[in-house]
Amino acid sequence: MLNEKGHNRLVHTLGGESLLFIVSAPSGAGKTTLCKMAENMFSGMRHSVSYTTRPPMDGEANGADYNFVSPDKFDNMLKKGEFLEWAEVYGYRYGTSVKDLNSLVANGNDVILDIDVQGAKKVKESAIGKERGVFIFILPPSIEVCEERLKDRGKDDGETIRKRVEGAKQEIKESAWYDYIIINENIGAAFEKFKSVIIAEKTRRERVKDKVKKLFGI
Ligand code: 5GP
Repeated sequence: MLNEKGHNRLVHTLGGESLLFIVSAPSGAGKTTLCKMAENMFSGMRHSVSYTTRPPMDGEANGADYNFVSPDKFDNMLKKGEFLEWAEVYGYRYGTSVKDLNSLVANGNDVILDIDVQGAKKVKESAIGKERGVFIFILPPSIEVCEERLKDRGKDDGETIRKRVEGAKQEIKESAWYDYIIINENIGAAFEKFKSVIIAEKTRRERVKDKVKKLFGI
């Protein structure tokens, strides 16, 4: 069956224990596109909507792309311990709400956390991250391509692009501790890899053993 974007949709193929797919990448690597394609393909896959102090960009919807909040509101949430992780990225703060994440997991969803390397490290050290986390790093084929993609998307001025490219070089070093690395030379091939990681992780013996027990009593 083809879905509205023309991809084969594997409805309900995943099931089982909920997993967290933590996806990081320098800007311009194609992470957002890959995450959207995965949500589109797997019926139970949800994007964890982060809280941010960054103002919305054109086309971004509150509650769907991000929960856009004031610095005061962010401080408040922070004080109350409402974030599983948070980080400052290019002058704005971003955080993952524990409550929102728990509710997605309680509903049996798999969750994509599109977060930076600092936040991913905190998730890796957390109980839920150790139990359910799969850490995926998306790389551009080269720094030059990363810079070109940033220029092409036309969101940032020259100085911001320079900063993001410098940031990218630092972030790429952090890919060393992720479970999987996908080099995005072209989006189709990169998505095949992303999809395969998701399916393989969902198929690990320890994650289906309860189902096997129910079905076969072993
Ligand atoms: P952008 O402003 O381009 O949407 O995001 C900037 C960076 O912040 C990206 O690397 C994105 O993955 C990261 N980010 C988005 N939400 C979160 C979050 O909740 N926590 C952390 N640590 N990083 C986030």
